[in-house]
Amino acid sequence: MTTRLRPALAAAFATALALAAPALAEDAENDCKVREYTMGLRFQQQSAEIQALQLQAFQLATLRLDAAVQGVEDPSKLAVVTDLDETIIDNSALLARDLENCHTYDGWDTSTHWEREGKPTLIPGAKEFLDHADGLGVSIFYISDRTDDFKKASLATLNDLALPQVSAESVLLLGPPKVTRRAIVEENHQIVMLLGDTLHDFDGGFRKTPLDRQKALVHENAAKFGTEWIVLPNASYGSWSGADLQGWDAEIVTGDY
Ligand SMILES: [Mg+2]
Repeated sequence: MTTRLRPALAAAFATALALAAPALAEDAENDCKVREYTMGLRFQQQSAEIQALQLQAFQLATLRLDAAVQGVEDPSKLAVVTDLDETIIDNSALLARDLENCHTYDGWDTSTHWEREGKPTLIPGAKEFLDHADGLGVSIFYISDRTDDFKKASLATLNDLALPQVSAESVLLLGPPKVTRRAIVEENHQIVMLLGDTLHDFDGGFRKTPLDRQKALVHENAAKFGTEWIVLPNASYGSWSGADLQGWDAEIVTGDY
């Protein structure tokens, strides 16, 4: 190569790089869209406040369940129905691993690996509450959208965590929608309490429903929250995750005003 050509090539290379840079930046941003979830996941996995909320939820559940069994002759006819993920067990290690690798975790294409080999931990207060329900003689059913194909692995996970009343019959996975699985439980039991982190853990009306309608339904069912429906916090994923924020319509004014 002649020395005269080198500056021309270098200039052409620099121009090509400059043209490519915004495209590369845009690709990187698109590839890592999941990074938007960082603050929510940080709250979910690392905040002390979430543990306080979780304990609060299970203490309330305990009080309500004690009241529900009062005077009941055969408490085994009563059922507590609980979701698993982010209600009883914490899967945030999977989500954090995916986020670190810019892999969008709520496409759930990494979840079966986790269901088979992952080691979720217990949500604070969950086991104590379920052991209490077990001690009262109430029937417990675990209704979760973990895959039925790997039910054996999920049963092993729940047994490793020493959760009560875990069996092939009491753990109902996907499958039919949760509303259908709740109906199976209701064939022989009266459901006195539902626990979940997603509103369709409580009522089919929340499933695949626009957010505005979900919010209206929450208000229509206000009396059930904290009584027969116990909600656990989940800031890491949900049907709200793509919703636009609504800001204050005013110019930013900083400092003393
Ligand atoms: Mg869940």
